[in-house]
Amino acid sequence: MKLFCGLTLIAGCLLFPTTAAALPDAGEEGLFCSAAIRVALGSVDERFQLGREELVEEIREAARLWSDAIGQPVVVYDEEEGIPIHFIYEDQQELTDQERELRERIERAGDHVESLERSVWRREEAWRDATSGYDGDSGRRERRFESLNQWVRKINEKGGFNEDELRQYHYRKQGVDRTAGELEARKEWLLETGEELKERVDELNRLIIDKNGLIDQYNVRFSGVHYMTQGIYEWNATDRVIQILQFADRDALKLVLAHEIGHALGIEHVEDEEAVMHRTTGSRPTGQLRLSSADIDALRAVCR
Ligand SMILES: [Zn+2]
Repeated sequence: MKLFCGLTLIAGCLLFPTTAAALPDAGEEGLFCSAAIRVALGSVDERFQLGREELVEEIREAARLWSDAIGQPVVVYDEEEGIPIHFIYEDQQELTDQERELRERIERAGDHVESLERSVWRREEAWRDATSGYDGDSGRRERRFESLNQWVRKINEKGGFNEDELRQYHYRKQGVDRTAGELEARKEWLLETGEELKERVDELNRLIIDKNGLIDQYNVRFSGVHYMTQGIYEWNATDRVIQILQFADRDALKLVLAHEIGHALGIEHVEDEEAVMHRTTGSRPTGQLRLSSADIDALRAVCR
């Protein structure tokens, strides 16, 4: 179980271009904040399982992130003339989907194990309490029985029972017998419950084995650190295009869109690991996506 937690699948974004020399000088175009760049949804591979409307919404939100940061529209959505953002489904997205699916199965198996574990512990505790109560009462009954026998021996030694003693004997004997009956019933219940408990523990063990099997599968297929290309921004003299290749969920999608749009704005990678423009998705805080101050400084720097 520990193994699973220790292994992280880091979806990195290794993005084109990697050399600063290949980047166009933002100043050449010189319009990055006076005239907004335009982006639009291009082709979409349906295996991404997100509709065009949802994708347009994500693109708009990613664009808005940059515009809001600087208080004016630097990126706008333009269906007609925008830089096309194509969604290209490749092996890595398939791998990402498989990884997520298996990870979710492990999580579900883990939840199942935990809830059964809690129920088994509760029952086991109750069973142990009942057992120790039974042991105590059973010991007391033994002592009462023994003391009755001693008393009977003593009376026999002195020559036998008188009427009073006989009545007393029957009374005490009845008490001891009644307790024996009760104890027998409790013993039976304890045995039955113990069997039931044992079955549940067996079931729990089977579930743990299943879960460990899934974890082994996961570790064989997905262990280690994977860096994946999530998005690409390309341009030449006449064309600009953004390709989205991989994302685990909608938050991750928004990040890769914001990152590639950042490149389209002329921004290079920054060092701040929490920045949208860092070269990997490594250690960004979870929760709502926002630009870091390094991102905003980088945008200001291209906004001449
Ligand atoms: Zn990049």
